[in-house]
Formats: sequence, C-alpha cells, structure tokens
Amino acid sequence: MPELPEVETIRLALRDGVAGVPALIGQRIQSVSLRWPRHVVEPSVSSFRRRIRGRTIREVGRRAKFVLIELDRGYLIVHLMMSGDLAMAAPGTPRGPYDHTIFKLDSGWQLRFSDARKFGRVYLVDRLDPLLGELGPEPLSNEFSPSQLGHLLADHRRALKPLLLDQHVIAGLGNIYVDEALHRAKLHPLQLSNSLDSARVRALWRGIRAALREGIRHNGATIDWVYRGGEFQNHFRVYGRTGEPCPVCGTEIVRIVVGQRGTHLCPNCQPPGAELR
Ligand SMILES: [Zn+2]
Repeated sequence: MPELPEVETIRLALRDGVAGVPALIGQRIQSVSLRWPRHVVEPSVSSFRRRIRGRTIREVGRRAKFVLIELDRGYLIVHLMMSGDLAMAAPGTPRGPYDHTIFKLDSGWQLRFSDARKFGRVYLVDRLDPLLGELGPEPLSNEFSPSQLGHLLADHRRALKPLLLDQHVIAGLGNIYVDEALHRAKLHPLQLSNSLDSARVRALWRGIRAALREGIRHNGATIDWVYRGGEFQNHFRVYGRTGEPCPVCGTEIVRIVVGQRGTHLCPNCQPPGAELR
C-alpha cells in the first residue's frame, strides 16, 4: 500500500511535471471518464461529472496519504488505497486495463487514476475539514516536534506499532515506515507508548522523519503494489528482511505479528520492553 513517501513522490511529479510531462498546475479539466464509478465517494457520480467540468487546477498538495488537488472551486481529493497510481498520459496514449478514472485536460493530456484492485477513492468537496479534519499531525511538517510526539504517546497506553499506524494519532505512516522508524529508534514494536522517556521520544521522532525522508529520497518503495518509480525497497533496514542480518549489529531480523500486521525487527537492537517504566 502506498504510504506517505510514495504519495509525496506522485504529488511532486504531478505538481512540477517531469521530463517531457507537463505540470498539472494550470491545466483545465474538460471532462471525466469513469469506468469504475464506485471510485467516486462524494458527491453523486452525476454531480461529480458536472461539477468537475471546466475546473482549473491551482495546486497539488498532500495530507497524510491523500493527494489534494486544489481547484479554482473546491478540491479534488484522491486516496490511492491499496494499489492506486496517479499519472499524466500523453495525448493518444491507449487506455490501460486499470485506468478506471480519467480526467481529460484541455491540453490534450490526461490525468489517469489507475487502480488494479479498485479500492481507491475520489472526492470532490468544497471544504477539507469533514474528510481530513480528524487526521493526526503531518510527521514531516515543521510543527511536528519531539514534545508534540511525546504528548501523543503519553496520552495513550498502547503498543507503539498500532499506535503509530493510527492515522488519527500521526498521519501518513503505514506498515513499512513504522517498522523502519522503530528500528532506527531502537524501540520494540510492542513497547507501551506511555513508557518512553524523553530521550526515547526524541529517538522515535528522529527515526520517523529519517525513515520518511529516505523513502522520499528514493522516490518511495515498489513493493506489493503496482508502482512505477521508487527503489527504497533496496534500502530497507528491517521491513521484509526476515532472516537477513541487521545492518547495525548483524543479528538476524525476525518477523512477528502485531495487530495482524507482519512486523520486522532486530531482537538485539530492539529488545522487548526496553526501559519500561
Ligand atoms: Zn540489530
């Protein structure tokens, strides 16, 4: 499933354009083709078709794992979910089997939402709050500080991994980057969130940001979903590396299951219940 770095990579490519592909900003939407109308969560499909016509794209942003396309009136919001991808297609490019939702632009280019497993979601809204207001802080924002993370952790008595996966607590983290962040911070995934001293909180804060930044630097990871670009999977410390040596100490990485999610850790660097209070 695409996580924050993968979505951020897609967003930046759309916003700025990449070699030979124009930027999305400034483009005008002529119409939309919906081969899988259930992509549209709100408004109704007929209203969506009507209201998207003629809108001009002002900005391409991101909140958590949502791509936020700011229009001259309202916002087009896309959640890629399990297998989605958003990309520009040159005029005349044949429609691919998974190109379920296609925005036709005045320039002749198309913005295509390709989604093999069809779990993706599309919204056209006037206000962001009802959909995004409940999300936790953005971990890469300037406002996200060690003390803010400390308060979030202390407010709960939950194992670290499921807490960090909770989008209401921190937005944008998924299975890969939580495992990578916890290894960087030398914290066990089952350690209780309210048991961390300030040094551990700071280590986790640094670990989360470093893991995300490294993911973005490698254009995200290409793993169990259809995605063209990234190669962060070649730089994982623990995720998916069961039985391989820890890059820090050489101990074999092990896999456990936490809240039904496969979880990877180094038993030496991340001892259980380290410094529980
Ligand atoms: Zn280790």
